Amino acid sequence: MAVTILVVEDEPAIQELISLNLKRAGHMVLCADNAEQAKQLINNVLPDLVLLDWMLPDTTGIELARRLRREARTKSIPIIMLTARVQENDKISGLEAGADDYITKPFSPRELIARIKAVLRRRLPEMSDEIIELGGLKLDPTTHRVHVYALDDPSKTTEITLGPTEFRLLHYLMAYKERVHTRAQLLDRVWGDHVFIEDRTVDVHIRRLRKILEAVDKENLVQTVRGTGYRFSVEFDEESVE
Ligand code: CA
Repeated sequence: MAVTILVVEDEPAIQELISLNLKRAGHMVLCADNAEQAKQLINNVLPDLVLLDWMLPDTTGIELARRLRREARTKSIPIIMLTARVQENDKISGLEAGADDYITKPFSPRELIARIKAVLRRRLPEMSDEIIELGGLKLDPTTHRVHVYALDDPSKTTEITLGPTEFRLLHYLMAYKERVHTRAQLLDRVWGDHVFIEDRTVDVHIRRLRKILEAVDKENLVQTVRGTGYRFSVEFDEESVE
């Protein structure tokens, strides 16, 4: 489960220690010394998770967490607060501001990695390695294989070959089945970038994905929701599909 983690921490020694341990665990790391820098980094690439220090030079971590929760693009990023404080009240205000979890300094690298893993498992199902079976499709994130099977006879399977982007796109859509995603959301979550890629890139890859699924008669699983975006659904809804 390699993800992009933004570390917002103003103490250089702690920032470096965290960054080192996250990299060692296979994650990609972005570092910000303050809220303003964090904002700029997030504008370019949406991280999968934010580690947020309670006390920052330009604002509090709580205030930044609230800001992230207010904006549509960042409202569902998992946030783990880092704090030297141990008072119960602080924990409650952190959780009220939208933090998913809490780590009290000093903490061990092992605890940090374990907490991150737990939050990701809960909040980002597309980062999980679990096999997903839906609507006659079986997607295995570990082997990067997709099989199609007959719903009345699961022993009859055919493998379909997808490009890396189509695979990630299908994995994401299946992990959040029945949910509608805008093109901007898909760029953020599947491509990891929404600034330098155009919205129509999403359409191109959706078309490619559908074409592959069409060959096995499964193209109706990936649906266009007019004026909104795309979704994976096992129910074919003629009204909203183009
Ligand atoms: Ca601090």
